[in-house]
Amino acid sequence: MSSDPKASIAQMEKIVSLCKRRGFIFQSSEIYGGCGGVWDYGPLGAELKRNLRTAWWNTMTREREDVLGLDASILMNPAIWKASGHVDTFADLMRECSLTNKRVRADHVDPQSGTVLKYSGAQSPTGWRWDRTITALTKSGEHIESFRKRIRALIAQNAGESAGKPEEIELLGEEKIDAVNGSVDFHPETGGMLGEARPFNLMLKTYLGPTATEDDVTYLRPETAQAIFAQFKNVFDSSRVKVPFGIGQIGKAFRNEVTPKNFTFRSREFEQMELEFFIKPDEAVEIISGEVAAWHEGADLSEPQPNWGWELWHRYWVDQRTKFYQGIGLGDVLEYYWQTPADLAHYARACVDILCEFPFGTEELEGIAARGDFDLSAHQTASTKSQEIFDEELKTAAAKLSDEQKESLIQKRLAAEAAKVKGEPMPEAAVRAWFERLFKGSYVPHVIEPSAGLDRMALAVIAKAFSETEKVDEKGKKEVITVLRLHPRVAPIKVGVFPLLKNKPELVAKAREVYALLKKHLNCFYDETASIGRRYARQDEVGTPFGVTIDFETCGEKGPELLDTVTLRHRDSGEQERVKISELLGKLLPLVS
Ligand code: ATP
Repeated sequence: MSSDPKASIAQMEKIVSLCKRRGFIFQSSEIYGGCGGVWDYGPLGAELKRNLRTAWWNTMTREREDVLGLDASILMNPAIWKASGHVDTFADLMRECSLTNKRVRADHVDPQSGTVLKYSGAQSPTGWRWDRTITALTKSGEHIESFRKRIRALIAQNAGESAGKPEEIELLGEEKIDAVNGSVDFHPETGGMLGEARPFNLMLKTYLGPTATEDDVTYLRPETAQAIFAQFKNVFDSSRVKVPFGIGQIGKAFRNEVTPKNFTFRSREFEQMELEFFIKPDEAVEIISGEVAAWHEGADLSEPQPNWGWELWHRYWVDQRTKFYQGIGLGDVLEYYWQTPADLAHYARACVDILCEFPFGTEELEGIAARGDFDLSAHQTASTKSQEIFDEELKTAAAKLSDEQKESLIQKRLAAEAAKVKGEPMPEAAVRAWFERLFKGSYVPHVIEPSAGLDRMALAVIAKAFSETEKVDEKGKKEVITVLRLHPRVAPIKVGVFPLLKNKPELVAKAREVYALLKKHLNCFYDETASIGRRYARQDEVGTPFGVTIDFETCGEKGPELLDTVTLRHRDSGEQERVKISELLGKLLPLVS
């Protein structure tokens, strides 16, 4: 990110413009003026997203023996959202502009400085009157006359036709109140004074059923995770797995964000890729392995071990996810924010936000939380269906413990409960009842949750890949060339196939042959129009990592040794090499997968 805010905005505008111009991302419902916080992915965006989705799915499920996939529905029984706490607490604090009623998330108001002006009301020659105090902040460097004009326009917009023309609105009883510095009490766009912060539930309500009454209310899921918890038992019972194991899911999620912003970064409809990785409670690990391994700087996280407790599993997943991001070209733009005890939810043991550098700032890409058994236990209580699993190994190990050893484990847990800084400590009777079940081999699994956003990931890779270089053409004219340096694994088009000249049938026929050969395995683009340099530039702009040119050498015109060879051009290095057509696929496939 540039330290100059204007440069960052300009950079973002260029990215948005490229995304539209080349078919990555369009505003939803654009021909009707758009639909706030909702975006559509064009042909190249759809391919890019698909590549990211596949990379996540393969890394997180297919290539692992301990993670299974799920594809649950968006609509669910609303009782799920009650049990998960979303109905009561999934809210952002929002504040409303007293001038325009525009809302803003309370924690998204940047400090502003300027002069505060107050009016006792406003009126217009149409007879319209506003008997309400107007308090607003001038923007930095704003002349008083421009400020008044702006306030009149905002009032006219809000009041509708009855207020008449903005320039005829009279602002009454102007008073200069004060100069403020770093205030967060004014709307960032309008400058109007903000009201008190109020909770605003982010779930999108809808009706499921023919009556469309309050009895039929349900919600579009605000996250994919809850379906995994709700189906935990079905997956466990049907898949012959043992804890530790995970369930991964990719799918749409919906949040009525108060202020969707920064292009697709904060949308109202988006896609999540979430893993719930179920582990044994630390006490079970201790009973089975005799100890719980402690994490330390430099701990070996390459292979999960039976004596890992929640902390090592959490560190392991942070490490795995970091490797994933390195594998799609984001390795060098990541930062980590470890939530402090004050940030953490009462049930969470740790949570790290993986942040990524965007042109508008360093922001969250993924959260990885150690959530204890909060979610499954909440569903167990609300549904009255047991979410416990039975662990034979645990039962056998517990049977070998002496009464003193058992009591010592109980005392350790009671001390931990008493030392809790957040949330109510578990009463002793409940702790003892929990251990009684544990010693018989039964427990509700704990969970580590790496939760990523696909749209943010797509934006992150585009922003990271965006680069501009200046080129001087043969006539000495300067031109700014955009190159999208996308990692070959995520690039929407992997290879551009070009006959050197389109009016040479033998070149075109050979190029079509090469295209037909490659396209069965890779997303390719065939292009025969314009100069070869222009065609390379077009593909560079959309991030195509490789270009294949079919020239006279290919057709054997420069000797038999070059017959059936093509020029393979590498986007980033500009390197060009001669490759046999028969070896092309074998060379390209490992580079793009
Ligand atoms: P934020 O603090 O940015 O609102 P969050 O902490 O509420 O995000 P989570 O509930 O942890 O986000 O969701 C997990 C992931 O889903 C986020 O890291 C992000 O990548 C993605 N995500 C969440 N909300 C949105 C959104 N409105 N638009 C796009 N992606 C989102």
